[in-house]
This record gives sequence, structure tokens and C-alpha cells, in this order.
Amino acid sequence: MPARRLLQLLAVSVILTAVFLVQSLADGTSAQGRGGRGGTSIQPGQECPAGTTETRPGTCQAPEFPPPSIVDYRPHSTLVTAAHPVPKAKFPVVDFHGHPQGRLNSADSLATMVAALDALNVRVMISADNLSGTRLEQAMTTVKASPYANRVAIFAGIGFNAVGPGWAEKAIAQLEADVKAGAVGVGEISKSLGIGARRGDGTRLHIDDPDLDPIWDACARLNLTVFIHTADPQEFFEPIDMHNERWLELSLFADRRYPPERAPRFEELLAERDRMIKKHPKTRFVIAHLNWLGNDLQRLSKWLDDNPNASTEVGAVLYDLGRQPRAAHDFLVKYQDRVLFGKDAFEPNEYPYYWRVFETKDEYFDYYRDYHAFWKLYGLDLPDDVLKKLYYQNAVRLVPGLPKI
Ligand SMILES: [Zn+2]
Repeated sequence: MPARRLLQLLAVSVILTAVFLVQSLADGTSAQGRGGRGGTSIQPGQECPAGTTETRPGTCQAPEFPPPSIVDYRPHSTLVTAAHPVPKAKFPVVDFHGHPQGRLNSADSLATMVAALDALNVRVMISADNLSGTRLEQAMTTVKASPYANRVAIFAGIGFNAVGPGWAEKAIAQLEADVKAGAVGVGEISKSLGIGARRGDGTRLHIDDPDLDPIWDACARLNLTVFIHTADPQEFFEPIDMHNERWLELSLFADRRYPPERAPRFEELLAERDRMIKKHPKTRFVIAHLNWLGNDLQRLSKWLDDNPNASTEVGAVLYDLGRQPRAAHDFLVKYQDRVLFGKDAFEPNEYPYYWRVFETKDEYFDYYRDYHAFWKLYGLDLPDDVLKKLYYQNAVRLVPGLPKI
């Protein structure tokens, strides 16, 4: 090849390379990785664009295959480690947050429920179904007439309709009647108190409304623990975007979304509820669902320190304890007199997940609802003394009318 032709070829290739480099810089891509596929550069602190992931520091790349949705992506873990399922709790259990619902309406359905409880070692199911008046009397009659009178305890509900002048006297009279019929506590006061409930004049019923004060005082006088659910997970009040930990759940259940125009803010609800608790230091409260602070055990600890007349329970928030086994272990040991077991929805095959988290040191195992938590759980390996308090002793102390364990 003549030298001139060689120079021409060299010049063309230099030009082509330069053009390629300029293009790459212009659209932020550069050849990288052995596959040589393009990537997108980002600055420190910047996030990768949608559809890409950081493959090297500062470089994002899109997967070659169409990515599955989070609903479909269910990888099988290859981890091989000891597994110790716990079908039956090590010690007897009181389910403080029970919702037996219609199962208390007939001797047959009650017997079926008790058989399931026996297999789990749940000795007492507390009905926290907000029963009152005739419904409470009917359930009480079925339970008392059955061989299982020592397996079920019933809490009384409070109706927060049209609160205003004269409401408290009527509500207290009803509560006294329900106690006479056999109720041994109050609850579950639902999250609608604070969110949906209205006063008689149509305004939002605040949890610390002064018109409610007499009923909380009556609970102290009647020696009844008040079981109350306030607000919902913090993420339910946040924008439903790709950073929301509960995106899938929020996408599945419309009634769990609390945009500002539909509900007060999370912090507002907790502050209202805390003012109410502080106004009634002689009334005992149990706050459902770890007060929705299971994701911040330091804050929950401080809250327990600040509210000596309140305790809390673990219903439906196992995913928060099981993802931080060391902190959760230390928390439950330190506050062993302040936390109760409760399950919430009655699903017999879900209880063993709780036993396994509390009793074993198993690692990286599945939770029972993907849409609550897409992460795995770890065992807390709680000492026996703590397990007994969590499972039944704290409930026995807080609910004087509970059947003997
Ligand atoms: Zn509940």
C-alpha cells in the first residue's frame, strides 16, 4: 500500500474515533464493562435514571432483558442455613390483639377456633372487636355456655358517633353495662378516631377532644385497660413514589392512602393521642402495632419512657422487628414489661412466623406477606423470661379480669 493511502486511512480512523468520543460525551454514555454496553454517568449524590442501576461508581446501566415488575420478581434464596420453624409457642400465649369476629357467634365456630389456638399454644384470645351492647352480650353468652369460657376474653367498644354535650354520660353508662356483661377491657379503639370520626357538629373528632375526657377517666375508675390503634404506617401518609417502602401495598389497597386532603398528618395524630394519654395518667393504655414506631426503636423507647401509663403490642409489625434482630432483641429485653404479643388478623398459619422470630436465631427467612415487606426476617433469640412476659405475663398484669393461664 502506498504511504499516501496509509495516511488517508489513518486520518479517517482518527476522525471516526473523535466523532464517536464527542457523541459519547454529549449523551453521557461511554463504553464500559466487558460487554461493552453503554452506561449513563451520574454525579456523586445523584440517582441513576429510571430503568437503570449503578454498575460501577458513577455509571448506571439498563438491564439487557426487560426487567420484571416487583410483583413478579421472586428469587429463590440460595442461602443454606439452619432452619427451626416453631409451629407452637414455647410458653402459653395471650393474643392481646385478637379479632375472632364471627367465630364467637356459634359453639361450632368457637370450637374450631380453639382447636387452632391449641395447636399454636395460644391460651387466651382477647376479642378486641369493639363489641358493645347486644352483640357483646350474645358473644359472651356463647362463650360462657361453651367449654371454652377460660379461652376467650372480650373487650368492650366505644361508639364515637356524634360526640358533643351529653355524649360522655351515655357512653359511660353503656361501658358500665358492657363491663357488667363481662367485658374486661376496652378496644380496639380504631384508627378512625383521629382520621374519620366526626363530632356531632361535623368537625373532625380530635383524639384529645375534651368531650372524651370523662370516658378515659371512667376506664381508670373501672380498672379497664384501653387498647387503641392510632394512625397507620408513616409511609401511608407519604407520596406514593419509587422511594416509598410500602409502594406495593399502597398500590393494592386504596383505603390505605392518606394524602393531606384526606387525613391529618401522621405526626399530628400521634401528638394528639399523646396529649390524651398525658391528660389521663391513671388510665392504662396499650397502643397497637408498636405505635407504628417499630421502624425507629430509639424513638419508641423514648416514647415508652415518656408515657409510663402506656404499653404497646406487636400485631402486624413483625416485619419491623425481624429486620433488625439485634436492636429488636435489646429493645424487647429493656422494655420487657411494656410490650405484649398480639396478632391482629386471625390467620392460624401466620402465628408461627412470630414464634420463629421471637424464639430462634434463624436467619434470612420469609415473612408471610410480600406486600408488607419485601425483605427477609431474622430471629431475635429472646430469653425465656422475656418471652413469658411478651407472650402472657404482661397481659395478665394489665387485664385483671383475664382467665387464669
Ligand atoms: Zn386490630
